[in-house]
Amino acid sequence: MQNLTKFFIGGEWVKPLSSATLPILNPATEEPVAEVAMGSAADVDCAVAAARAAFSTFSTTSKAQRIHWLERIADIYDRKRTDLAKLIACEMGAPLNTVVQSNGPLDHIRYTIKLLGTYEFDRNISGTIIRREAVGVCGLITPWNWPLQTPISKICSAFAAGCTMILKPSEYSPLSSLALAEIFDDAGLPPGVFNLVNGDGLGVGEPLCRHPDVDMISFTGSTRSGIRVAEAAAQTVKRVAQELGGKSANIVLPDADLKEAACWNIGRSLFNAGQSCHAPSRMLVQQDQIAEIEGYLVEAAQAAIIGDPLAASTTMGPVVNKVQFDRVQHFIDTGIKEKARLACGGVGRPAGFDRGYYVKPTVFTHVDPAMTIAREEIFGPVLSVIPYRTEEEALEIANGTPFGLGGYVFSRSREKGRAISERL
Ligand code: NAD
Repeated sequence: MQNLTKFFIGGEWVKPLSSATLPILNPATEEPVAEVAMGSAADVDCAVAAARAAFSTFSTTSKAQRIHWLERIADIYDRKRTDLAKLIACEMGAPLNTVVQSNGPLDHIRYTIKLLGTYEFDRNISGTIIRREAVGVCGLITPWNWPLQTPISKICSAFAAGCTMILKPSEYSPLSSLALAEIFDDAGLPPGVFNLVNGDGLGVGEPLCRHPDVDMISFTGSTRSGIRVAEAAAQTVKRVAQELGGKSANIVLPDADLKEAACWNIGRSLFNAGQSCHAPSRMLVQQDQIAEIEGYLVEAAQAAIIGDPLAASTTMGPVVNKVQFDRVQHFIDTGIKEKARLACGGVGRPAGFDRGYYVKPTVFTHVDPAMTIAREEIFGPVLSVIPYRTEEEALEIANGTPFGLGGYVFSRSREKGRAISERL
């Protein structure tokens, strides 16, 4: 990549206004793979000015024109998919065979093309024409765990609506967003429609949220940062859309196929090394079935192929960085100290690894809902199995969290499962 230390503003690759840089480490080797520029409020001002200048023309382009650009983007993206998957593997450790990381964004682009084709911006409601218009200049702030998917889903929607935008990706996975900017550059979008400024939350994220010329912020990240985003954006009364943290529950009803439920839950818990907002990180199992399901869980967890994200056979790579590694280790240690039963895994790296931010697939059973590992978002390959006595108690535990993101139910009866899911 040629533009690591530049930003994409107004259709040009420009030098940042300050000289700060940040090394990006490969989490599998702990070695630097790149050095990227870190922006400032002054860079945000330039990007917002470019997006504002482009808005009046871009927002009046036809649907057909925007579909044409999206089709070009899809074609270029498709050609670069393998390289993008490798980039993700090197910057945040998702294995190459986690194909949804690089295929999912292409599906998003194609879905947007289809949706835009049939979308009616004007609707006649009882004789009155209701026109949906582009919001304006959008600030898009994204996390590191889905480094292409999250930016693409925001960009496509904003683009389809006729908005102009500034992307601020996570400072821990900026390489794939730089690659996206190169794709938009190659697609020949009008200058200023898409802009990219790299940097951290305080240096670039907050100035974007506070900026009076930004009309909307779309934020995905932790609940902690989301609160700050909402506070900063409130000063200029801009719209804010947020997707935040999760501690999602999977209720396994007593009639469920326990082996199937266990394999599915472990698959989702270890997927992306557990770094997915909607991972079923709490598994609720009827208390008499804990012993049986524990065997299936351990067997499935130990079948994970941990290793180099670039190796084709790897099913679980490292977590993103040292901060995340230490955080996950702390939670595993806390689970042990709070006397949950450690069924497999534990602190330290898996056997055979002396470097890289690899975590042992870890399953705790007999977890009390009040324990730290049942309450906090760990964001690593750690599953907490919580026993329940009755379905009412299962629902109470599942709903007893401030993180209301995902929810799952296993039952052999679709009706029964659905009835429980409606109360989640
Ligand atoms: P994070 O909140 O630390 O950072 C997310 C983004 O916000 C980064 O670009 C960061 O630089 C920026 N940021 C941080 N502080 C900011 C501030 N004060 N103002 C503006 N921007 C700021 O999150 P992360 O560690 O990158 O990602 C993991 C978190 O994201 C987890 O909690 C996960 O559940 C959540 N997440 C949620 C979804 C969802 O759809 N609900 C999807 C993916 C990730």
